Amino acid sequence: MVSEGVGRSTQKSAFDAIDPPDTELYLDCIHCGFCLPACPTYRILGNELDSPRGRIYLIRSASEGKIGISDNFVKHMKLCLVCRACETACPSGVQFGHLMESARGQVKRNYTYPPAERRLREFILYYFTDADRLTWLLRGLRLYQKSGLQALVRASGLLTLFGRLGEMEGLMPSIPDLSLRHALPEMTRAIGPKRGRVGLLAGCVQSVLFPGVNLATARVLAENGYEVVAPKGQGCCGSLLIHEGERERGKAFARKTIEIFERAEVDTVVVNAAGCGSAMKAYGDLLHGDPQYATRAAIFGKKVKDVSQVLAAAPMNGKLGSVPLKVTYHEPCHLVHGQRVRSEPRTLIRSIPDSQFVELKESDVCCGSAGIYNLIHPTEARQMLERKLNRIAESGAEVVVSGNPGCLIQLDVGMKRRGMKVRVAHPVELLAWAYDAGAGEGGSKAMVRAVK
Ligand code: SF4
Ligand code: SF4
Repeated sequence: MVSEGVGRSTQKSAFDAIDPPDTELYLDCIHCGFCLPACPTYRILGNELDSPRGRIYLIRSASEGKIGISDNFVKHMKLCLVCRACETACPSGVQFGHLMESARGQVKRNYTYPPAERRLREFILYYFTDADRLTWLLRGLRLYQKSGLQALVRASGLLTLFGRLGEMEGLMPSIPDLSLRHALPEMTRAIGPKRGRVGLLAGCVQSVLFPGVNLATARVLAENGYEVVAPKGQGCCGSLLIHEGERERGKAFARKTIEIFERAEVDTVVVNAAGCGSAMKAYGDLLHGDPQYATRAAIFGKKVKDVSQVLAAAPMNGKLGSVPLKVTYHEPCHLVHGQRVRSEPRTLIRSIPDSQFVELKESDVCCGSAGIYNLIHPTEARQMLERKLNRIAESGAEVVVSGNPGCLIQLDVGMKRRGMKVRVAHPVELLAWAYDAGAGEGGSKAMVRAVK
């Protein structure tokens, strides 16, 4: 335990005045260490400074001017997944996610990453926070996959010569038909008696790499009496930027997202990507110092709900048909720890006729995706992924379900690399297969055949 001897200091803080980590938050820590076994980085690295308690110690020391924003400080901040498993484990209610996001904001402004890492971060954040740019980038990569070149390059072993670039190629998901991104209608009418009018965040990565998830979300909500509005002009919610300490850019996206959904006049803003939902629910904290947006952001945050929360609030409408598959559930960190949504996705899976739900051991432990973590820290992310894949293999499931695009990519890539015959899906896709089956359509049978 490293906290002994950290007294109050009168030295100048290493942090600047813009959103510094809140003293009240780190003083909540009673140094009990209950969070250590829950922390994935502590579990694999075994270093106190890569534990929640160690990181809080570093943040407090920097805040009190005892240490600077040094290479060592940054290393331990960067290695954190911001998975927030420590918050779930903490008996003292330490809001670690807020602390870490503020600390990373300080790192962003007051530290210079080595040039190669800086370029990599800028590249990722430039393309993955804008659906148009991401589509443009993926066009070439889809050609690379579809032409068979990818299979040839992978078989040749050439990728090992390309270092980090070769590793990143190995993390590339299957790229869908990119035109499907535009298939989501701006308005989907409710089927049957209307329960409400909801907005749907299309998302950057979700809309480009998982257009089927957005279509399934709108369809399943409509089946359950919701009119679904996916406003044109919506963009990035800022979650990836906030996660990485780019708070000012994240705030700009947050303001725009609030405006778009205010104009849509919806009762609820539905999100099907856990990382986005977690950030949007916390817009009130993010924008608390903004006189124009503070109140609007707090009101907006209360309207945000994960799709599983909306759908599990009442029994499913309509006719769900048989989907005879063995299904397990991997919990996205930003759903289970960030939003404390645990039972709702399970309720939805269990509502599907003839599916067999099996619990996944360590279901709430991070898969290593964590925003851009798997690209910045491939070695640590791979260790977490391999452990997760072992648990999935032990479960005997044919489908692993998860409500976050980063997790879906990470699990799918890992299972394909291992040759596992397990399909990944979002919970709403499973429900859409069941509605297909209920309507006597062949879609779900084809899906079941494909899985088997
Ligand atoms: S957020 Fe996750 S990785 Fe970071 S300290 Fe907490 S448990 Fe560990
Ligand atoms: S469990 Fe909470 S109070 Fe205990 S060491 Fe971890 S962060 Fe601090």
